[in-house]
Amino acid sequence: MYRSGKLRVAVVGAGAAGLCAARHILSRAPSFESPVVFEQSARVGGTWYYEERVGISDNDLPIHGSMYRDLRTNLPKEIMMFPDFPFDSHLPSFLTHWDVQQYLEAYCKRHDITPHIKFNTMVEEVKPISMETDEGGAVRWEVISRGTHGGHSTQTFDSVFICSGHYSEPHLPSIPGIEHFKGKVMHSHSYRYPEPFAHQSVVVLGAGPSGLDISLELAQVEAQVILSHNKASLPFSLPLEIQQAPSVVKVLDDGSVLFQDGSVAHAQFLLLCTGYSYHFPFLCLAELGLEVQHHLVAPLYKYLMLPTFPSLFFIGVCKSICPFLHFYYQIQFALAVLDGNVQLPSRELMEEDIEREKQRKTKMGIHVKHFLKMASGQWDYYASLAKAAGLPPPNPVIKSLYEEHMEEEVNYSGQEAQNADDPALPGARLVAQNQPQN
Ligand code: FAD
Repeated sequence: MYRSGKLRVAVVGAGAAGLCAARHILSRAPSFESPVVFEQSARVGGTWYYEERVGISDNDLPIHGSMYRDLRTNLPKEIMMFPDFPFDSHLPSFLTHWDVQQYLEAYCKRHDITPHIKFNTMVEEVKPISMETDEGGAVRWEVISRGTHGGHSTQTFDSVFICSGHYSEPHLPSIPGIEHFKGKVMHSHSYRYPEPFAHQSVVVLGAGPSGLDISLELAQVEAQVILSHNKASLPFSLPLEIQQAPSVVKVLDDGSVLFQDGSVAHAQFLLLCTGYSYHFPFLCLAELGLEVQHHLVAPLYKYLMLPTFPSLFFIGVCKSICPFLHFYYQIQFALAVLDGNVQLPSRELMEEDIEREKQRKTKMGIHVKHFLKMASGQWDYYASLAKAAGLPPPNPVIKSLYEEHMEEEVNYSGQEAQNADDPALPGARLVAQNQPQN
């Protein structure tokens, strides 16, 4: 969408994706105005800022982060980093959330991003408006934001980068009779550390990465854990203290939990480790023609933009990826689209491309709920974005490190990351905990 004046871009969110977007917009000053980054909280880092509190934050917004106290990264730092900003060489390969938070703050400082962030400012609405410009008709974007201490503002932009994350909105399965449960029902979004569960009975629902990881933490404080799941086998053998049960059917009138094999358990906690839903409360989905389900955002050309509105970019909606590397290539591609260095195909051709990709995945037997999972497909994807944007592809060393790491993961856990329903791979975390601190 090249035009003669400088482009004005809004960025929603100052997590890793938003910071990466801001850094690369700033580096293209001849074609872009300085970005406006809207961040609802008082700080950068998003997911990586560990907030012990759950529920409502000090600016009266729901707590965004799902980080827990003892989490270690599931990717070694050599793979996890932005390609142009290594982690401190003194850090071990597998990091704490605090290390990553420090890294993002250092990135922000290095690229002088902070002056461009409007903290405590929540985006309430992003909507397209048709404008007559010197170059003819164009879509611009109205961004309506609210200061968390009051006051609305409306600003107009040429493009919006949505970097609001997707591990915040708990996916809550419907369990018949759950109102009869006499203990506490909570989602892993609000789990921070195991101590409050010591010697308590807990039904953990879901043996995805978080369910497994949290079950292991709970077992360490001698909670009586029943891990309920529908998997034929688990990635690794669990300690004997953790019992397993099939899926939960319902909660009975007396408050006990009924499992599919007819067994019943009384518990003090029902901990739902059931993943997260995509959530864009500031978009009018019908107006944009955007389909958002708990596991899907569509139709996105290159997993990035709507063919009908190619100046609205969804950064990082894919799963089973190297997130920071992924953000980097998506953002470089998006900026090349905006400054005219990448010519997009027609809307019809983009729609055909999306349809072809959908058919390809369906033929491979991939269920629609896994359409946004990339795993080993991410490398060709980055290479294609890089080629279009005139950049080198990821360093082959990164790819082989990742493949090797995943192989270890598969050997260790017996299943691929493709199966992961949420971001935390417990196999890697266990390996990480046993890593020598180099
Ligand atoms: P976020 O970090 O979620 O940031 C989004 C930001 O947008 C937030 O600051 C939020 O406040 C802001 N925001 C949202 N809505 C609005 C609004 N309406 N207005 C203004 N601001 C808004 N990745 C790895 O690479 N390695 C790991 O080991 C790893 N482990 C993980 C473990 C857990 C428990 C979780 C939840 C995630 C993990 N991830 C991991 C994935 C992680 O999400 C990504 O690494 C990355 O941090 C995502 O960045 P983001 O910027 O897309 O989103």
